[in-house]
Amino acid sequence: MASRKRWNNIYDGENPFGLAQTVAKSLQSCTKRKEEEPSKRVRYLWVYLPDRDAYSTSNADERPLSFDELLDIIDEGAGVGARSLIVSTSSPIATHPYLLQVCDWAQKIHEMTVGIHLYKLPFTEEDLPVLAKLNKDKTRLFIDGEHMETAPLAEGAGYRVYNADGLDDEVVSPKCEFPGTMTCVSPIGNLYTCGLVLGEQRFKLGHIFERKLTSIMEDSSLPHAIPEGVSKATRRCNGCPPLMAQKMHNDEL
Ligand code: SF4
Repeated sequence: MASRKRWNNIYDGENPFGLAQTVAKSLQSCTKRKEEEPSKRVRYLWVYLPDRDAYSTSNADERPLSFDELLDIIDEGAGVGARSLIVSTSSPIATHPYLLQVCDWAQKIHEMTVGIHLYKLPFTEEDLPVLAKLNKDKTRLFIDGEHMETAPLAEGAGYRVYNADGLDDEVVSPKCEFPGTMTCVSPIGNLYTCGLVLGEQRFKLGHIFERKLTSIMEDSSLPHAIPEGVSKATRRCNGCPPLMAQKMHNDEL
């Protein structure tokens, strides 16, 4: 899309998407009746962003999602009801090539609340001016417990920060029904039941280029829940959108 390229090239914090927003709102209005029909809805979108160094790979099977492809996923997620986006990044906020633009797109075009999950990373001074370009009211930060000592830096600038820790490493993962409300996208576009089982073949739901999200969410032959004790992976519940939503809710009580 020309508007995306333009934004990518000249992004300066202004909103160059007035037309796109108008079109998106019109489409939402036109499809309102259709959206109200009973169907499987996605409340949360969870995207593991490609690492900043991922683009140097020469393996076609491991090709990371491009910037435009990520925006397409956000558009589709928003179209089926997702109001919250969590982006998990293992590259620092300040150095990721397009983390800011992806978050800004979700906020400005779809009015989504965006959580940035720093995966195994501390928050740093350098991240502050980048974050300042986002809508503070619609931005949340999730920091892994081991780096929570860096939270005051962001909190001092007015951001809402939460501990991203999910299950403790030694805890057997319980049966979990959260995946029925969300979709989880890997850096190369594979969809998984959730982040706990990211990369596990039996929980792979398909590839984002192969099927529509609604088709995947409505397919009862696919695993939309996590059985008890299914994974020994550590830290993968960190940043999980419905889990983080519970934390935020508890925080506000
Ligand atoms: S990451 Fe953990 S809490 Fe989230 S859906 Fe998966 S099992 Fe449940």
